[in-house]
Amino acid sequence: MDKAVEVHPDDRPYAWAEVDLGAIEHNASLLAERARPAQLCAVVKGWAYGHGTIRAATAAVAGGATWLGVALVNEATDVRVRGQLSEPILILAEPPHRQLGDVARLDGVRVTLYTAEGIRAAAKAAREVGRDTPLPVHLKVDTGMHRVGAAPQSALHLAELVTASEGLELEGLWTHLAASEDPAHDDYTARQLQCFDAVRERLAAAGIRPPIVHAANSGAVLAHPEARYDLVRCGIALYGIPPRPRMPEAAGLRPAMALKARVSYVKRVAAGEPISYGLHHVCEQPTVVATVPIGYYDGVPRQLGLVGGEVLVRGVRRRVVGAVTMDQLMVDCDSDESVHIRDEVVLFGSQGGETISAWEWAERLDTIAYEIVCRVAINRVPRRYLPA
Ligand SMILES: *Cc1c(COP(=O)(O)O)cnc(C)c1O
Repeated sequence: MDKAVEVHPDDRPYAWAEVDLGAIEHNASLLAERARPAQLCAVVKGWAYGHGTIRAATAAVAGGATWLGVALVNEATDVRVRGQLSEPILILAEPPHRQLGDVARLDGVRVTLYTAEGIRAAAKAAREVGRDTPLPVHLKVDTGMHRVGAAPQSALHLAELVTASEGLELEGLWTHLAASEDPAHDDYTARQLQCFDAVRERLAAAGIRPPIVHAANSGAVLAHPEARYDLVRCGIALYGIPPRPRMPEAAGLRPAMALKARVSYVKRVAAGEPISYGLHHVCEQPTVVATVPIGYYDGVPRQLGLVGGEVLVRGVRRRVVGAVTMDQLMVDCDSDESVHIRDEVVLFGSQGGETISAWEWAERLDTIAYEIVCRVAINRVPRRYLPA
């Protein structure tokens, strides 16, 4: 049969992301063990790095996470109200002040603050909501990430402001490390931790000892035991992805997400013919080319086909050729006549004995694996959950 006349299969979806909840549970228990006696906070911001907030949070809790971390107030609401999870939830950045009423109404939510205006607004919101208990506040200090957080020299003043505010309780003190996964920056990590310890001591000298001190992200949990304090905040490692490629300390983590699709079209292309927009790739010999119905609108970067990116078909690595288009990409199957429409394509994940990691894509594309999993489009690529 001439493959060129095969038509698109009508079994949907054509592309999906498989999420292994057992892997998340396993990673959580490995990280909880590594963090002990510190508690594990599972970071589920950004729709759990593309894995699905509630499913991922539930699996993490089953594995031993006792806290959940989010970036936004609506994510906290999602976990608490829709997800019905009862663990303490930490919002990792100072929310817009008009949302502090919602924060104060949510049971068990802890808010990060680092401005005097934020502290006053939170105290006012907590009083107006009429809580039975004070709203727990985690004061964030910027020790060198320079994203958000109070300057170290303002920390004592802000801590005193919280403790003096009716309606608030200073439960936590924390900072965020900028390069904890990279041994080339161990000096910088040490400087950040020294600065953090100095802030802690200054507060202690004034009689302020927040019970929950935290600094570690995945990189620090794995590589800087001294940064564990009372709580560690793990995102990427929870999803089975090391914070940097080939990190020996990350051995044992299992990647939770695989990106898959089915071949939608197969044809033979003559030697000398180009593939895709811009004619960037030219077939050197007669080639079997498979088309896969996933593209940059779904989260596969256009560049992947121009930088040597590979996918798995029939357990074999094959090159993506030519520019990835909005919703389709082409794969060089050499002279393999066994490739057929509907064959499963693994974009990242495992097939046969082969594995393509999110880091492999990231390194080709000069980015990090975090971005690869987060960009798999939520509105386009359904998640299929493998139960724990
Ligand atoms: C995202 C985030 C984390 C988790 O970082 P990973 O490197 O994914 O472990 C921890 N803390 C804060 C403040 C974050 O924003």
